[in-house]
Amino acid sequence: MSYPTVELSSVRKTFGPTVALGGCNLTAYAGEVHAIIGGNGSGKSTLAKVISGVLIPDSGQVSILGKSATSPHEARQLGISNVFQEVLVADECSVLDNLYLGADGLLGSSMNREEKEAKASALMRELLGFDINLSGLVGELPLSVRQWVTIARALLTDPKVLILDESSAALDFDSTERLFRKMRQLKQRGASILIVTHRIAELVRIADRATVFARRRGCRQAGEGRDYRGQDSRTDCRCRAQRH
Ligand code: ADP
Ligand code: MG
Repeated sequence: MSYPTVELSSVRKTFGPTVALGGCNLTAYAGEVHAIIGGNGSGKSTLAKVISGVLIPDSGQVSILGKSATSPHEARQLGISNVFQEVLVADECSVLDNLYLGADGLLGSSMNREEKEAKASALMRELLGFDINLSGLVGELPLSVRQWVTIARALLTDPKVLILDESSAALDFDSTERLFRKMRQLKQRGASILIVTHRIAELVRIADRATVFARRRGCRQAGEGRDYRGQDSRTDCRCRAQRH
Protein backbone atom coordinates (compact mmCIF):
# COMPACT_ATOMS: atom_id res chain seq x y z
CA MET A 1 0.00 0.00 0.00
CA SER A 2 1.45 3.31 -1.06
CA TYR A 3 1.72 6.09 1.50
CA PRO A 4 1.97 9.87 1.10
CA THR A 5 5.48 11.30 1.01
CA VAL A 6 4.67 14.96 0.43
CA GLU A 7 1.40 16.59 1.36
CA LEU A 8 0.55 20.23 0.76
CA SER A 9 -2.61 21.71 2.09
CA SER A 10 -3.86 25.21 1.30
CA VAL A 11 -0.33 26.43 0.61
CA ARG A 12 -0.17 30.10 -0.26
CA LYS A 13 2.94 31.95 -1.37
CA THR A 14 3.00 35.54 -2.56
CA PHE A 15 5.70 37.84 -3.87
CA GLY A 16 4.42 41.35 -3.23
CA PRO A 17 1.23 41.63 -5.28
CA THR A 18 1.86 38.35 -7.14
CA VAL A 19 0.12 35.28 -5.83
CA ALA A 20 2.42 32.47 -6.95
CA LEU A 21 0.57 29.76 -5.02
CA GLY A 22 -2.99 30.53 -4.09
CA GLY A 23 -4.00 27.65 -1.83
CA CYS A 24 -2.28 24.65 -3.35
CA ASN A 25 -3.29 21.12 -2.38
CA LEU A 26 -1.22 18.22 -3.56
CA THR A 27 -0.30 14.78 -2.35
CA ALA A 28 2.55 12.71 -3.75
CA TYR A 29 2.75 9.01 -2.96
CA ALA A 30 5.66 6.64 -2.57
CA GLY A 31 6.39 4.79 -5.79
CA GLU A 32 4.82 7.23 -8.21
CA VAL A 33 5.86 9.71 -10.82
CA HIS A 34 3.69 12.76 -10.36
CA ALA A 35 3.77 15.36 -13.10
CA ILE A 36 3.17 19.04 -12.45
CA ILE A 37 2.10 20.88 -15.54
CA GLY A 38 0.97 24.42 -16.21
CA GLY A 39 1.82 27.54 -18.13
CA ASN A 40 4.65 29.95 -17.50
CA GLY A 41 4.26 31.72 -14.20
CA SER A 42 1.62 29.33 -12.87
CA GLY A 43 3.66 28.59 -9.73
CA LYS A 44 5.39 25.29 -10.56
CA SER A 45 8.89 26.34 -9.54
CA THR A 46 7.51 28.08 -6.47
CA LEU A 47 5.89 24.78 -5.51
CA ALA A 48 9.21 22.95 -5.98
CA LYS A 49 10.98 25.52 -3.81
CA VAL A 50 8.33 25.39 -1.10
CA ILE A 51 8.64 21.59 -0.87
CA SER A 52 12.42 21.79 -0.73
CA GLY A 53 12.50 24.39 2.06
CA VAL A 54 13.93 27.17 -0.11
CA LEU A 55 10.75 29.24 0.20
CA ILE A 56 8.58 29.34 3.29
CA PRO A 57 4.84 29.59 2.54
CA ASP A 58 2.80 32.54 3.80
CA SER A 59 0.22 30.06 5.05
CA GLY A 60 -0.79 26.42 4.74
CA GLN A 61 1.04 23.20 5.56
CA VAL A 62 3.77 21.25 3.86
CA SER A 63 4.36 17.81 5.28
CA ILE A 64 7.26 15.58 4.29
CA LEU A 65 6.73 12.07 5.60
CA GLY A 66 4.75 13.59 8.44
CA LYS A 67 7.38 16.19 9.33
CA SER A 68 8.00 19.78 8.30
CA ALA A 69 11.17 21.46 7.10
CA THR A 70 12.05 25.11 7.56
CA SER A 71 15.28 25.15 5.53
CA PRO A 72 16.75 23.46 2.45
CA HIS A 73 19.08 21.55 4.75
CA GLU A 74 16.19 20.15 6.81
CA ALA A 75 14.27 19.22 3.67
CA ARG A 76 17.28 17.37 2.34
CA GLN A 77 17.67 15.55 5.64
CA LEU A 78 14.07 14.41 5.28
CA GLY A 79 14.85 12.96 1.87
CA ILE A 80 13.96 15.75 -0.57
CA SER A 81 16.23 16.34 -3.56
CA ASN A 82 15.36 19.23 -5.83
CA VAL A 83 16.91 19.75 -9.23
CA PHE A 84 16.16 23.43 -9.72
CA GLN A 85 15.09 24.91 -13.01
CA GLU A 86 18.13 27.17 -12.94
CA VAL A 87 21.29 25.09 -13.37
CA LEU A 88 22.94 25.75 -10.03
CA VAL A 89 26.55 24.60 -9.92
CA ALA A 90 29.73 25.95 -8.39
CA ASP A 91 31.72 26.66 -11.57
CA GLU A 92 35.06 27.00 -9.83
CA CYS A 93 34.76 23.61 -8.09
CA SER A 94 35.44 20.13 -9.45
CA VAL A 95 32.71 17.80 -10.66
CA LEU A 96 33.29 15.59 -7.62
CA ASP A 97 33.01 18.47 -5.16
CA ASN A 98 29.85 19.68 -6.85
CA LEU A 99 28.32 16.22 -6.65
CA TYR A 100 28.83 15.96 -2.90
CA LEU A 101 28.04 19.60 -2.11
CA GLY A 102 25.80 19.74 0.94
CA ALA A 103 25.61 15.95 1.18
CA ASP A 104 27.38 15.76 4.54
CA GLY A 105 25.50 13.58 6.93
CA LEU A 106 23.33 12.13 4.17
CA LEU A 107 25.67 9.47 2.89
CA GLY A 108 26.70 7.83 6.13
CA SER A 109 30.05 8.63 7.64
CA SER A 110 31.68 5.46 6.36
CA MET A 111 32.35 6.58 2.78
CA ASN A 112 35.94 7.51 2.05
CA ARG A 113 37.14 9.48 -0.95
CA GLU A 114 37.70 6.40 -3.14
CA GLU A 115 34.22 5.12 -2.41
CA LYS A 116 32.73 8.52 -3.12
CA GLU A 117 34.60 8.69 -6.43
CA ALA A 118 33.53 5.19 -7.41
CA LYS A 119 29.86 5.93 -6.67
CA ALA A 120 29.99 9.27 -8.49
CA SER A 121 31.76 7.96 -11.54
CA ALA A 122 29.39 4.98 -11.92
CA LEU A 123 26.39 7.28 -11.66
CA MET A 124 27.78 9.84 -14.12
CA ARG A 125 28.55 7.08 -16.61
CA GLU A 126 25.04 5.68 -16.25
CA LEU A 127 23.47 9.11 -16.78
CA LEU A 128 25.76 10.50 -19.45
CA GLY A 129 26.61 7.32 -21.32
CA PHE A 130 30.33 8.15 -21.14
CA ASP A 131 33.03 8.87 -18.57
CA ILE A 132 33.98 12.34 -17.47
CA ASN A 133 36.90 13.60 -15.47
CA LEU A 134 35.62 14.07 -11.93
CA SER A 135 38.55 16.37 -11.09
CA GLY A 136 37.72 18.77 -13.94
CA LEU A 137 36.11 22.13 -13.19
CA VAL A 138 32.37 22.23 -13.70
CA GLY A 139 32.60 25.70 -15.24
CA GLU A 140 34.49 24.24 -18.19
CA LEU A 141 31.75 21.74 -19.06
CA PRO A 142 29.00 22.25 -21.64
CA LEU A 143 25.59 23.24 -20.26
CA SER A 144 24.06 19.80 -20.82
CA VAL A 145 26.78 18.13 -18.74
CA ARG A 146 26.44 20.75 -16.02
CA GLN A 147 22.74 19.92 -15.99
CA TRP A 148 23.63 16.25 -15.46
CA VAL A 149 25.84 17.24 -12.53
CA THR A 150 22.81 18.81 -10.83
CA ILE A 151 20.72 15.72 -11.53
CA ALA A 152 23.45 13.34 -10.33
CA ARG A 153 23.92 15.43 -7.20
CA ALA A 154 20.23 15.03 -6.41
CA LEU A 155 20.39 11.27 -7.03
CA LEU A 156 23.54 10.51 -5.04
CA THR A 157 21.76 10.83 -1.70
CA ASP A 158 19.09 8.25 -2.69
CA PRO A 159 16.21 10.68 -2.20
CA LYS A 160 12.78 9.69 -0.98
CA VAL A 161 11.35 12.53 -3.06
CA LEU A 162 13.05 13.71 -6.22
CA ILE A 163 11.84 16.96 -7.78
CA LEU A 164 12.86 17.65 -11.37
CA ASP A 165 11.96 21.17 -12.44
CA GLU A 166 12.01 21.13 -16.25
CA SER A 167 15.22 19.14 -16.01
CA SER A 168 14.75 17.39 -19.32
CA ALA A 169 14.20 20.65 -21.23
CA ALA A 170 17.85 20.85 -22.30
CA LEU A 171 18.37 17.11 -22.76
CA ASP A 172 18.36 15.27 -26.05
CA PHE A 173 16.31 12.14 -26.72
CA ASP A 174 18.88 9.57 -25.54
CA SER A 175 19.64 11.54 -22.41
CA THR A 176 15.96 11.84 -21.60
CA GLU A 177 15.67 8.05 -21.99
CA ARG A 178 18.47 7.54 -19.49
CA LEU A 179 16.83 9.95 -17.08
CA PHE A 180 13.51 8.13 -17.39
CA ARG A 181 15.22 4.78 -16.74
CA LYS A 182 16.71 6.22 -13.58
CA MET A 183 13.33 7.59 -12.53
CA ARG A 184 11.75 4.15 -12.92
CA GLN A 185 14.48 2.61 -10.75
CA LEU A 186 13.88 5.19 -8.04
CA LYS A 187 10.16 4.66 -8.22
CA GLN A 188 10.60 0.91 -7.81
CA ARG A 189 12.56 1.62 -4.66
CA GLY A 190 9.52 3.48 -3.32
CA ALA A 191 10.56 7.07 -3.97
CA SER A 192 8.20 9.76 -5.24
CA ILE A 193 9.23 11.71 -8.27
CA LEU A 194 7.70 15.11 -8.94
CA ILE A 195 8.40 16.13 -12.48
CA VAL A 196 7.66 19.65 -13.64
CA THR A 197 7.24 19.61 -17.38
CA HIS A 198 5.43 21.37 -20.15
CA ARG A 199 5.90 18.48 -22.54
CA ILE A 200 2.64 16.60 -22.67
CA ALA A 201 4.23 13.64 -24.49
CA GLU A 202 6.66 13.28 -21.62
CA LEU A 203 3.87 13.37 -19.09
CA VAL A 204 1.95 10.64 -20.88
CA ARG A 205 5.02 8.40 -21.08
CA ILE A 206 6.35 8.66 -17.58
CA ALA A 207 3.73 10.01 -15.19
CA ASP A 208 1.34 7.96 -13.09
CA ARG A 209 -0.62 11.04 -12.05
CA ALA A 210 -0.60 14.72 -12.86
CA THR A 211 -1.60 17.97 -11.25
CA VAL A 212 -2.31 20.89 -13.50
CA PHE A 213 -1.63 24.42 -12.41
CA ALA A 214 -3.87 26.96 -14.05
CA ARG A 215 -4.19 30.68 -13.72
CA ARG A 216 -7.73 31.81 -13.19
CA ARG A 217 -8.86 33.89 -16.10
CA GLY A 218 -8.96 37.58 -15.32
CA CYS A 219 -7.30 36.98 -12.01
CA ARG A 220 -3.67 37.18 -10.96
CA GLN A 221 -4.03 34.17 -8.76
CA ALA A 222 -2.13 31.11 -9.88
CA GLY A 223 -0.98 27.82 -8.53
CA GLU A 224 -4.09 26.19 -7.21
CA GLY A 225 -2.92 22.78 -8.31
CA ARG A 226 -6.08 21.90 -10.17
CA ASP A 227 -7.04 18.49 -11.35
CA TYR A 228 -6.54 18.60 -15.07
CA ARG A 229 -10.14 17.70 -15.74
CA GLY A 230 -10.89 20.90 -13.88
CA GLN A 231 -13.47 19.33 -11.59
CA ASP A 232 -11.96 19.46 -8.17
CA SER A 233 -8.95 21.50 -7.20
CA ARG A 234 -8.27 19.22 -4.24
CA THR A 235 -7.92 16.00 -6.18
CA ASP A 236 -4.99 14.96 -8.26
CA CYS A 237 -6.17 13.24 -11.35
CA ARG A 238 -5.07 9.87 -12.56
CA CYS A 239 -3.52 10.25 -15.95
CA ARG A 240 -3.78 7.53 -18.51
CA ALA A 241 -0.08 7.01 -18.66
CA GLN A 242 1.25 3.59 -19.41
CA ARG A 243 2.87 2.07 -16.41
CA HIS A 244 6.38 0.78 -16.87
P1 ADP B 1 6.50 28.64 -13.19
O1 ADP B 1 7.64 27.84 -12.66
O2 ADP B 1 5.21 27.88 -13.24
O3 ADP B 1 6.83 29.27 -14.50
P2 ADP B 1 7.05 30.39 -10.92
O4 ADP B 1 6.74 29.57 -9.72
O5 ADP B 1 8.48 30.58 -11.28
O6 ADP B 1 6.21 29.84 -12.17
O7 ADP B 1 6.43 31.84 -10.73
C1 ADP B 1 5.08 32.05 -10.32
C2 ADP B 1 4.84 33.56 -10.23
O8 ADP B 1 5.59 34.07 -9.13
C3 ADP B 1 5.28 34.32 -11.46
O9 ADP B 1 4.39 35.40 -11.64
C4 ADP B 1 6.66 34.82 -11.08
O10 ADP B 1 6.99 36.01 -11.77
C5 ADP B 1 6.52 35.06 -9.59
N1 ADP B 1 7.77 34.85 -8.87
C6 ADP B 1 8.45 33.68 -8.73
N2 ADP B 1 9.54 33.83 -7.99
C7 ADP B 1 9.60 35.14 -7.66
C8 ADP B 1 10.49 35.93 -6.87
N3 ADP B 1 11.57 35.42 -6.30
N4 ADP B 1 10.20 37.25 -6.72
C9 ADP B 1 9.11 37.80 -7.29
N5 ADP B 1 8.21 37.11 -8.02
C10 ADP B 1 8.45 35.80 -8.21
MG1 MG C 1 9.45 27.32 -13.46
